[in-house]
Amino acid sequence: MTEPYMDGPLPATRLEIDLDAIAANWLALAGRHASGETAAVVKADGYGLGAVQVATRLRRAGCRHFFVATADEAAALRPHLPTARLYALNGLYQAEAATYAALDLIPALGSLGEIAEWRAASRRLGRALPSVLHVDTGMNRLGLPRDELARLAAEPSLLDGLDWRFLMTHLVASDNPVAPENAAQLARFAAARAALPTMPTSLDNSSGLFLPQDEYASDLARPGAALYGLNPTPGRANPMRHVVRLTARVLQLRDIGAGETVGYDATWRAARPSRIATVGVGYADGWPRAASNRGVARFDGMPVPLVGRVSMDLTTYDVTDLPRLRVGDFLELLGPDNPPDALAADSDTIGYEILTSLGARYHRVWHGS
Ligand SMILES: *Cc1c(COP(=O)(O)O)cnc(C)c1O
Repeated sequence: MTEPYMDGPLPATRLEIDLDAIAANWLALAGRHASGETAAVVKADGYGLGAVQVATRLRRAGCRHFFVATADEAAALRPHLPTARLYALNGLYQAEAATYAALDLIPALGSLGEIAEWRAASRRLGRALPSVLHVDTGMNRLGLPRDELARLAAEPSLLDGLDWRFLMTHLVASDNPVAPENAAQLARFAAARAALPTMPTSLDNSSGLFLPQDEYASDLARPGAALYGLNPTPGRANPMRHVVRLTARVLQLRDIGAGETVGYDATWRAARPSRIATVGVGYADGWPRAASNRGVARFDGMPVPLVGRVSMDLTTYDVTDLPRLRVGDFLELLGPDNPPDALAADSDTIGYEILTSLGARYHRVWHGS
């Protein structure tokens, strides 16, 4: 028996974002870092949850420093944050110094070439442009490499003419408190500080704020993930508040016989007569295909197993044990009982990737004052 799809006033998906919970998370993190200031990392559209909404809410909560990756992201935010400090983690991209200066955007400069270019822009504009000096202490990704750091230490006049706000580095394994990389990076960062002209420091990401703060505190912490409810202490209870809830309406219910299969490649076979619910969420929405036959949704607090392959626009659930479920009801795909970190574990990734992949088709609703 197949029930028809009943169109209704509500969209077929709802992604609810709790801005007050994000603000509470920021205040809690700032409280852990009381000896310095605490920024908010809102790159990748606020980890998929809306950079403008998140940043304007955090600005009202008292946050003054916001990190994005690119100048494009900063340009989208600047009109909403006229007085905040905006930083570009990806550095000074190509010959865009004038654009950065016009946005009052502070680049994290990670090479002698970038420093020279930013100094040239400073001279052209006749003012010392605000700058962050990014030193690499082990990521080997961005930031001054060892030889360029030695060059600067030998010739500190290469830094002249800029307004140095922070010396920054980024931890590679802060979510593992016993990783030897943490202490090694701390030592390299201390050596860089000693070799360079004195300036304030910026060190911790979310998980770094849960390392011993007598050693790992700095003048500006840069948490991202924990603001959005991801667990900064993997393996331990999540100290952060939940932020996202994703619900999807049941488009169809169908009853199948024992031995029938569901979805592409027939990867799930019913062991008993079963009822299957289909929702309009798929890998095109960032719902990971790797969660095929693994994830769970919730209905009335009950776990609902995902069965069969996740397809592009649709996912199927075994709702045999939920006789009250009707077409048009909402299954909860993400929420306090099935957080992004749990979906990530079910699909061999991290919560960061789940959040930043949340699809453009979801009907987004922001709650909070
Ligand atoms: C993304 C990023 C952060 C934020 O990290 P989280 O783990 O999300 O808290 C901080 N600093 C740098 C350099 C980053 O790239």
